[in-house]
Amino acid sequence: MDQLRTFGIVAHIDAGKTTLTERILHDSGAQQFVGSVDEGTATMDWMPLEKSRGISVTAAATRVTWNGCVLQIVDTPGHVDFTAEVERCLNVLDGVVVVVDGVRGVESQTEAVWRQADARHLPRLVFVNKLDRIGADFGEVCEELVERFEAVVAPVVVPFRDERGVFAGIGHAVTGAVQWFDGRPDEELVPRLRAELRAANERLVEIAADLDDAVMTDIVAGKEVGSDRLLEVLRRASRGGRLVAAAAGAALWNRGVDWLLDAVIELLPPLAEVQRTGIWSVERSGDPLAPFCGLVFKVQHADEAWNYVRVVRGRLFSGAPCRRTRDPASEFEVPELWVMQGESHRAAGKAEPGEIVVLPGDFGLRTGDTLVAPGHPVAVPTPRFPAPVLAVTFEPEHGADGPQLLAALREFALDDPTLRVDYAHGQVTVRGMGELHLEILGESLRERVGFGFHCSRPRVAKRESIASEAVGEAEMRAVVGGEACAARCRVAVAPHADEPLAAVDVRCEIDGPVAAAVVEELQSRAASGLRVGAMVGFGIRVESLEHTGSVSGLVEQAAAHAFEQAIQQAGAVVLEPRVEFEVTCPEDGGAAVLADLGSRGADVAGVASGRLGARIRGTAFLSRMIGYVTRLRSITRGLGQASLRPAGFAPVRG
Ligand code: GDP
Ligand code: MG
Repeated sequence: MDQLRTFGIVAHIDAGKTTLTERILHDSGAQQFVGSVDEGTATMDWMPLEKSRGISVTAAATRVTWNGCVLQIVDTPGHVDFTAEVERCLNVLDGVVVVVDGVRGVESQTEAVWRQADARHLPRLVFVNKLDRIGADFGEVCEELVERFEAVVAPVVVPFRDERGVFAGIGHAVTGAVQWFDGRPDEELVPRLRAELRAANERLVEIAADLDDAVMTDIVAGKEVGSDRLLEVLRRASRGGRLVAAAAGAALWNRGVDWLLDAVIELLPPLAEVQRTGIWSVERSGDPLAPFCGLVFKVQHADEAWNYVRVVRGRLFSGAPCRRTRDPASEFEVPELWVMQGESHRAAGKAEPGEIVVLPGDFGLRTGDTLVAPGHPVAVPTPRFPAPVLAVTFEPEHGADGPQLLAALREFALDDPTLRVDYAHGQVTVRGMGELHLEILGESLRERVGFGFHCSRPRVAKRESIASEAVGEAEMRAVVGGEACAARCRVAVAPHADEPLAAVDVRCEIDGPVAAAVVEELQSRAASGLRVGAMVGFGIRVESLEHTGSVSGLVEQAAAHAFEQAIQQAGAVVLEPRVEFEVTCPEDGGAAVLADLGSRGADVAGVASGRLGARIRGTAFLSRMIGYVTRLRSITRGLGQASLRPAGFAPVRG
């Protein structure tokens, strides 16, 4: 399994992720034609919807071979509304290729995924794309990476320009190899190219000297640092996440893609060198002889369910029994395994540690499930997904279609843990991560069902918490069949200062079925909320519970009243979702954009000027930012771009 690399390609929208992926599939022979996003034939964006929009919203994984190595590519979505999905994919990656637009440089989504990859100590490579375009600058982009991320960036594949400034070749700063895209370079050019390549090599040697004392000693002693040695130092640092190599190219024209793949094999880690964190912290992970364990990192429902599984340890055999850890009743027989290759797949009898395979069929699996061989449970942390912040309601044009509408939406929610579907009074409410997320859901739904329906404007999902500690007490009486019954309950509530968004927990030291019923009642009251939405960020303690006679429900009623009293005493606080925004626009439009943000009560944290004009960052309440992207376009004559990302909840002011 030394020959296996598993990585994702991440990028800001339009940086060229899909184009690059298509190129890789083609060059490695997994696919006969080169798909083009511009013509709507790209394979990785497999949903018809994505093809028409030209953006990726759903992840898939595919496998290619390159120079005798197996590369598993996990496609990650590019839009910030789908950050949860990006996060989920990062869980099963061993490394990341970050595609950066050579003209636009580091963009907001580049930054978001960079931080996510940092949090997971994921080694990465940067592909600086679109170097054929006017204004593209490899050197500047590398500098920007250093500045923005304080990363050690090693330009390994550098671009060459001809006498007219056209991107005409690339040079390898370690090996000294050169690719000239068209014929050979002019004789007069050769000395300059040679000098540039030598400078690039010296730059790498300097970086290696900073990383490795032995290299430093040799340089001081005037010794040459050979390319094998240089590569070895860079490899160790890159695989350990201490250095990020950068490679130049233009995916659309198939420039630099081959050397990028070589760099993936050299500089991203094989399974044996992957840090033992996350799912790899499981005992004996990577050991093919251990009892099987694997992670379901994606479930897609199309005509049938496709469960993407990455094998963590042991071997997964078709025909063997398998079940979810912690759920003995979920046992099923492993079906034929599929290895995905572009649009097609081939059947496989078994999968080794590190491999990604699809289990076709409905086994009731969910994204994030851990699969094990029966009798060999493992303890792995369950993934946590951020709470959805925006809600829309769906209503069918004809009431009779209601059940089918609900069923279809529930199926989407199975595939996407950041969607919540609730049903009440003939209306289906769906909560999601952002406007685009819900908009795309609406479109996908239209494609799946054959009837008409209405979808409301999005509104924010609020939360409710408390301002201070308090106690509430209540007594309920009833006379039933001549018997006098009474129930009395006292509950205390106290905020969790350090976890303001944690689910409400109910503690009760009293034993017995009555107390258990009270706990359940309080839990469900807190979950559905008293006024505006689910309650969060505090604990409930049942302090006393007394009852005489037996009327079912009386104790629960007393507890509910006591709880409401306690909340009233404590002072309710309404929390609304906030978003972090980054807006870029031409310098001369900055004032208008700032004025508009001001009218939305946004807190502007900084205004900077960069390659793309003005860059404005800050936070605001999501409710004030609905429809913002459309508004921004009109203020900036279509030139402004914004990205919004959930930033927790905060009390509503005023
Ligand atoms: P994604 O959103 O990151 O998946 O980006 P796409 O692959 O969809 O590419 C966005 C646009 O950039 C498309 O119109 C591509 O044709 C174009 N593009 C991608 N790579 C290059 C490149 O190397 N040079 C140029 N000039 N355009 C490119
Ligand atoms: Mg794409």
